[in-house]
Amino acid sequence: MDNLIYFDYAATAPVRPEAIKAMMDALGQFGNPSSRYGYARRAAQRVKEDREAVAAAFGCSPSELFFTSCGTEGDNWALRRGAELNRRRGRHIITTAVEHAAVLETCRDLERQGYEVTYLKPDRAGRISPEQLAAALRADTALVSMMLVNNETGVIFPVEDCVKAVKAFDPAILFHCDAVQGFLKTPRPLVRLGADLVAVSGHKIGAPKGIGALYVKKGVRLRPLLTGGGQEEGLRSGTEATAQIAAFAAAVRAGAADQTRLERAAAVKEYTLSKLKEALPRLEVISAGDAPHICAVTLPGYKSEVVVRVLGDRGVCVSSGSACHKGRPSHVFAAMNLPKPWLDGALRLSFSADSTREEADALVSALRDAADSLFTTLS
Ligand code: PLP
Repeated sequence: MDNLIYFDYAATAPVRPEAIKAMMDALGQFGNPSSRYGYARRAAQRVKEDREAVAAAFGCSPSELFFTSCGTEGDNWALRRGAELNRRRGRHIITTAVEHAAVLETCRDLERQGYEVTYLKPDRAGRISPEQLAAALRADTALVSMMLVNNETGVIFPVEDCVKAVKAFDPAILFHCDAVQGFLKTPRPLVRLGADLVAVSGHKIGAPKGIGALYVKKGVRLRPLLTGGGQEEGLRSGTEATAQIAAFAAAVRAGAADQTRLERAAAVKEYTLSKLKEALPRLEVISAGDAPHICAVTLPGYKSEVVVRVLGDRGVCVSSGSACHKGRPSHVFAAMNLPKPWLDGALRLSFSADSTREEADALVSALRDAADSLFTTLS
């Protein structure tokens, strides 16, 4: 990675060699899976096998899994069409204040269309409880959307218990889970969450950007978001992105086969946090993260955008929150009611099994140098 010290795997991950190889093979076989002749049928067969591989990692049937262009598309499809499917029940949606923009902005759009949205606030540790969700349920609640792993804190939400609480209140309420940061990062297959709809994305797990999937539980009659040639059983039109699908499936096969990767990522994260605390007494841990690959820290008194830039100049990549914020303070840390200096100095560090202790040492020393040089400018 050109001497990059990369600690931003939650923003995107490098494409795995297995995925590149599968993508190149699929690019060589350019047939359109919908064409009727033998050459194209090979492409269709490949998409079928790739769907089976991704479905196996989900723990679902291949007929419940639909390829999308990204996690954002899956979230949009689930929320817009899920809300529509249950419109007769009511126009109330429940989500959390700390979801990704793919969910929050879609909820805001639904509000403009007449839906009422309850945004559950996390506690200071970034957690949300099933009881909190249960208390917000109403007779007119159509849909609940809750992420599995928060992309800025690494906190794992109790989705399985939340699904149980919702279904005990009324099985007709649809439950969507944005599992973009949880796919292959949490030990249990996603189908066990019990949610009706689950969105994931390829570029967080070693596939290229531009591919994702939505799980739609059997029996949930979700209408398509994209209409056209009727691909994906008529539910997601658009010629199948055969090469991206091949790469996605290859990354899934490789990731699912090696769950020790989770332990390796978690061990480097733990090491980094302990070294950071030793080297920078002012540093506070916002969240050590339940998920193996994400944590959040803060340097109160510093501006995280400046720290991120100074580190970036030294080839060290971290984030001041979600990569999608582009300099705005994180809505996640703000919803956790952190004091302003903590918000201003917040940094997200994210890891993979390929992260090493040597890289962690380089990050720690670069951050200490940056903090020293900026402290002089600040004071
Ligand atoms: N949801 C979460 C929790 C994310 O972290 C992201 C990306 O950062 C998305 C959704 C959007 O996924 P994509 O980039 O594939 O559209």
